[in-house]
Amino acid sequence: FVSPLTYFVLLLCFHRMIQSAFVDMESMFELLTEEKEVKDDVNAGDLLFIEGRVDFQNVCFSYTAGKEILSEVSFTVMPGQTVALVGPSGSGKSTIIRLLFRFYDVQGGCILIDGQDISKVKQNSLRSYIGVVPQDTVLFNDNIRENIRYGRISASDQEVEEAAVAADIHHKILSFPDGYDTEVGERGLKLSGGEKQRVAIARTILKSPRIILLDEATSALDSQTERNIQASLAKVCANHTTLVVAHRHEELLAMGGLYAAMWLKQQQTPESEVSTDEQPQEPQQ
Ligand code: ATP
Repeated sequence: FVSPLTYFVLLLCFHRMIQSAFVDMESMFELLTEEKEVKDDVNAGDLLFIEGRVDFQNVCFSYTAGKEILSEVSFTVMPGQTVALVGPSGSGKSTIIRLLFRFYDVQGGCILIDGQDISKVKQNSLRSYIGVVPQDTVLFNDNIRENIRYGRISASDQEVEEAAVAADIHHKILSFPDGYDTEVGERGLKLSGGEKQRVAIARTILKSPRIILLDEATSALDSQTERNIQASLAKVCANHTTLVVAHRHEELLAMGGLYAAMWLKQQQTPESEVSTDEQPQEPQQ
């Protein structure tokens, strides 16, 4: 849901951010996964958030013994910068996001936020600074207002509506039979993939996290929806450290710009700084 042009911009820096008010989205992720939770160290303290620098240092990870997904992955996202992760399907892009949210602990190397090893700080504290727009947003069996308010449960109705406006979903909601009171989820109104993503963006706007992780939808969206989502994402991401998982990047190659040049270079030298591909190959989806 981010245009090729935006991806070029993604490789550039944005600036610093000052935001406040967070809500823990851990429970949402518990709904999305039944994986075993990582445990806090007995001596774990809170993350001391300073400016939002993210460092992956020689990170190694495998879900199952003997099948390494990430091998010595290192990269830095500077405070306020937006960086896109690109690579073939299954190369481990979403895994990087899961590791940064600490769904799993790394098996080698470390992940630092402002110089602090995330495996040594309280999960709740870490996650309070991070907002995730996942590939598939979970909607609860509740009305659309509460579904958005989930981003920050103390938010007023007006703040919920402002977030919906910013995420470009407000008018859509007004077109529902009961507006913001319309029930959604399994037993209620079904929203399209693009609409659900905009609900996730509205939640993230309400949460106003210091670090944003975007897992781009793999499914194709119509161009208008894509444009709407790009516009709302741009609002969320400005001035925030942002990591985008770009599942669809053939367009970048087709444009023949910076990314294509990097990709071609990578073909000649298997080492890559940002991509998680160990053996670069034709991007696929
Ligand atoms: P795509 O662009 O297709 O979404 P990706 O680069 O985001 O792919 P990941 O979702 O990070 O890839 O998956 C990397 C590898 O890890 C894949 O081979 C996948 O099958 C495997 N994998 C992902 N989740 C698990 C899991 N929970 N248990 C075991 N293996 C997993």
